[in-house]
Amino acid sequence: MLIVCPTPIGNLEDATARQRQALAGADIIACEDTRHSGKLLGLLGIARVDGVPRLVSYHEHNAAERIPELLGNLAAGDTVVLVSDAGTPTISDPGYRLVRAAAQAGHPVSALPGPVAAMVALSAAGLPTNRFFFEGFLPSKTRARTERLGALRALGVTVILYESPRRVLGLLADVEAVYGPAHEVCAARELTKMHEEYLRGSCAEVRADLADRPEIYGEFVVILAPFVPADEDADIEAQIDAKIRELLAE
Ligand code: SAM
Repeated sequence: MLIVCPTPIGNLEDATARQRQALAGADIIACEDTRHSGKLLGLLGIARVDGVPRLVSYHEHNAAERIPELLGNLAAGDTVVLVSDAGTPTISDPGYRLVRAAAQAGHPVSALPGPVAAMVALSAAGLPTNRFFFEGFLPSKTRARTERLGALRALGVTVILYESPRRVLGLLADVEAVYGPAHEVCAARELTKMHEEYLRGSCAEVRADLADRPEIYGEFVVILAPFVPADEDADIEAQIDAKIRELLAE
């Protein structure tokens, strides 16, 4: 069987008992980087006996040759555990093609629950969660990024982005241009780590805060509040005020 196994996004304590069991019991661990995942097994105290579990690299560039090999392993009865460098495989990470191929070949595929940086950030951002759109990484060039942000703005829902520390200021500048400087955002960095931080406020405030720092480090999740055209916004505020007055009167 194929098991999709999340790994911590920064805090080893987030590895669950089921994840540890899956990793320890695997015949093969398909991972982005064998050295990185080998180190993680050591940190989790999972001993490899005679090279088992066997670590096999699986990433976007070798998927075409690796998938048939791994399907062969599954057919031979091996338990294959799919991991990525951090978080949940297949979410802005490689893996979906392997999952699809295994399922199409009739092998059981199961996934363990675990951390996704997007969900961790969303749950503490304090922005609407009833409807949201996970975008992941936007294009790195301003023009393409601005175009995509325009399409996201039109969705009218909360938008979740992934970004590197190197590009986060450029991203926020483009968000400001497309959504407006007063638009509410939350930039979450170093999630689950010692220096975890949530920067909440207007896009201009969050950008200024980061721009003031001598160095920006840590990976980011940037969450954008839903775009609501100005008059609708005022309408909602008025409805909330009316409801509060009604409740107070009761
Ligand atoms: N599969 C992963 C997941 O489940 O979240 C995402 C992998 S993607 C290649 C890496 C991006 O996820 C980073 O650039 C960052 O945007 C986000 N990310 C991962 N870990 C994070 C953390 N501890 N704090 C903030 N963002 C994080």
